Amino acid sequence: MQKVRGILIGRMQPVHNGHMQVINKILEEVDEIIIGIGSAQISHELKDPFTAGERIVMISQALAEAEIDASRYYIIPMQDINFNAIWASHVKMMTPPFSIVYSGNPLVKQLFAEEGYEVRQPPLYDRLHLSGTEVRRRILEDKDWQELVPKATADIIEEINGIERLKNLSVKEISDI
Ligand code: NAD
Repeated sequence: MQKVRGILIGRMQPVHNGHMQVINKILEEVDEIIIGIGSAQISHELKDPFTAGERIVMISQALAEAEIDASRYYIIPMQDINFNAIWASHVKMMTPPFSIVYSGNPLVKQLFAEEGYEVRQPPLYDRLHLSGTEVRRRILEDKDWQELVPKATADIIEEINGIERLKNLSVKEISDI
């Protein structure tokens, strides 16, 4: 029988517990999920501190930690392209075939809906706290950010000296103003 596949694309800067909850929710609805690591070409910026490779390790180890069957997901880095109008086709070209797009991002929803895909908005889990912006803010302010992310994310951030990286980026960007 043909498998039903859904796709979730996110910058995941970094992977947090909201991403994990939404992935679990999507796996209740489809056979397989494609997890696109968005803006794969961007790193070492205050809003996008982590490389695609680092984000791939974060998500793959978090999925393993959560004991999600590895045969049910694909993790694919997705570079941005300059042309929004053909981005959905670009994503389609780079991924296994899928029929359902999951996103809370208005532009992502619009672009895939225009291409005829079924678009579903997953529920938002504690969006006030579970966002990359909040995790990065807490890292910069030495507050408890670890509670917002899977252990795997926290471990990778420590391992790559991510806290120091983020702090250095914030100093640099302030002095550039
Ligand atoms: P994100 O990491 O902020 O979110 C990814 C998804 O995770 C969201 O759609 C949302 O559904 C879910 N999510 C996040 N927090 C959640 C929570 N607390 N509870 C439940 N769900 C939660 O990433 P994003 O900004 O939406 O990523 C979109 C990507 O697509 C970006 O990399 C963007 O550059 C890319 N994009 C590229 C083009 C282009 O290249 N022309 C066009 C459109 C989008």
